[in-house]
Amino acid sequence: MCLFCKIAGKQIPSKMVFEDDDLFAFHDINPGAPTHILVIPKLHIASMNDATPEHQALLGKLMLAGHRAAEIAGVDKSGFRLVINTGADAGQSVHHVHLHVIGGRTMAWPPG
Ligand code: 5GP
Ligand code: ZN
Repeated sequence: MCLFCKIAGKQIPSKMVFEDDDLFAFHDINPGAPTHILVIPKLHIASMNDATPEHQALLGKLMLAGHRAAEIAGVDKSGFRLVINTGADAGQSVHHVHLHVIGGRTMAWPPG
């Protein structure tokens, strides 16, 4: 079982933000901004390269949950970024799809 499957299953502790039947949201262990929450599907999907039309509703729900996390953190009005790193060039280090919810400071674009 992968690291994020274990976090979603509470076999590894995390600072949970919310969960439901399909999703689990928790604070990143190494935050890159004042708000840095990860939202993951409980279903193991290794990366967006492995997403299929069967996952469409789940991934739509993931995006809306990213907004919910931003609201809970109080950064929805000031602005936030939703990011899914995919593959080596993007720096994906955990091979279970996760949505980064980043906010609480201004951010440069494009990312380095
Ligand atoms: P990636 O680089 O794959 O897009 O993002 C993985 C993220 O997971 C990183 O921001 C990293 O800090 C976070 N992370 C890695 N291991 C753990 C952990 O055990 N607990 C938590 N809460 N976050 C983790
Ligand atoms: Zn997993």
